[in-house]
Amino acid sequence: RGASLTDFAEKIGADAASLVQVMFHLGEMVTATQSVTDETLQLLGAELEYDIQVVSPEDEDRELLESFSIEFGEDEGEDSELLPRPPVVSVMGHVDHGKTKLLDAIRNEDVVAGEAGGITQHIGAYQVQTEVDGTERKITFIDTPGHEAFTAMRARGARSTDIAVLVVAADDGVMPQTIEALNHAKAAGVPVVVAVNKIDVPDADPAKVRGQLTEYGLVPEEYGGDTMFVDISAKARINIEGLLEAIILTADASLDLRANPHQDAEGLAIEAHLDKGRGPVVTVLVQRGTLRVGDSIIAGPAYGRVRAMFDENGQQVDEAPPARPVLALGLSAVPRAGDNFMVVADDRMARQIAERREAAVRNASFARITKRVSLDDLSKLLEERQALNLVIKGDVSGSVEALEDALAKIDVGEEVDLRILHRGVGAVTENDVNLATIDNAIIIGFNVRAQGRSVERLADREGVEIRYYSVIYQAIEEVEAALKGMLKPEY
Ligand code: GDP
Repeated sequence: RGASLTDFAEKIGADAASLVQVMFHLGEMVTATQSVTDETLQLLGAELEYDIQVVSPEDEDRELLESFSIEFGEDEGEDSELLPRPPVVSVMGHVDHGKTKLLDAIRNEDVVAGEAGGITQHIGAYQVQTEVDGTERKITFIDTPGHEAFTAMRARGARSTDIAVLVVAADDGVMPQTIEALNHAKAAGVPVVVAVNKIDVPDADPAKVRGQLTEYGLVPEEYGGDTMFVDISAKARINIEGLLEAIILTADASLDLRANPHQDAEGLAIEAHLDKGRGPVVTVLVQRGTLRVGDSIIAGPAYGRVRAMFDENGQQVDEAPPARPVLALGLSAVPRAGDNFMVVADDRMARQIAERREAAVRNASFARITKRVSLDDLSKLLEERQALNLVIKGDVSGSVEALEDALAKIDVGEEVDLRILHRGVGAVTENDVNLATIDNAIIIGFNVRAQGRSVERLADREGVEIRYYSVIYQAIEEVEAALKGMLKPEY
């Protein structure tokens, strides 16, 4: 796994040079920093009367955190310390339906931002205030339109979003990416508020949008369903307040959003880049606890002490409570979007954990490949009575639907479920691979290929299988064979 005598020495509190000598006496010439095999470590351990257990990188990461008594992802303390927190919202929808315009309009609606007089900065997320039933309420928006960011974060196990706003242009109606976005929200179990946009244009038909989405299971409240539809114009700034209110009402109705602000902060890196003057700059979304200037944090493989924090108006802040996004300076490196961050007791611990994490990331591709399934592993899956998850991409919607219908008719009895996580028209994208990663899905490309080498590389890295077909019955046969556990390993 790439451990060296230096690593080992650090672990047992010995000095590396004397371990090199011990190894020499045991007949092996190794330098202090060279990586050695597990057997070598065990040999060395036996000689020094240490019991060495070889653990996987994930185990190691967890054990390391546990040894410091750190748990991630849990609110600590009594229930009474869990206080209401603002919802975190992502905006999704078809291209050109107005996601970017809406995010701008919402920001401009916010009086607080205006009063602060700061320079509006894009930091990847922002928070606004709105009045609902006479009470001031806050909402946090992830300022990256589209579901790519959302899915990429989810692929890393991060849960960034409480509510999805699905933007549908009233003149265009439901389009392929509308459905794609909806599928992503459904897969994540995130409630949806529909923003029917562009109602200012003459051929806007908001009723049609309601009808179309009803077919996909989003039934408007006014038709007796439980999804709020709000007619807006992002461009003419019509009814933005109404949309904000709908978000709050949806949060109040179906989510009990609480967090303990009185603990060490934890959350997610939303966006990060390397700034020439300021070094690594990262936007973090605090999910629990309160982040303060001076805190030692780790964020993925990065660590450091928070030197300064800024809000989306460029104003310096000292504290960030739950659901507050802030831009933080002082990290050692640039984390990835979706990496967890947390406050730890001191700099040294932060550095140690970050270094372990980095090593774990380096090894993760190996660890992962064994975790993902391929069609050929299916008999094993069948024993565990799991589902075969598919993502289907095709050249035209007709072929995708035909394939889906045919697959749905495969009779495999009750032990196994065939689940189609997502279907769509077009090449297999990075986004499809990310979605497949989350649920161990296999991607079927029907008369389409991957969108470039980078997508294939990502699939390789994540161990996601993409299978291409140009004949429907062949696709069906293979899936059926797989489901029945009779698939021959070679093709
Ligand atoms: P995105 O691709 O979903 O982010 O869409 P944009 O926000 O970039 O908007 C696409 C186009 O639609 C732009 O030219 C916007 O000016 C326009 N647009 C967005 N919202 C509205 C609206 O409410 N009314 C009208 N008439 N145009 C809009």
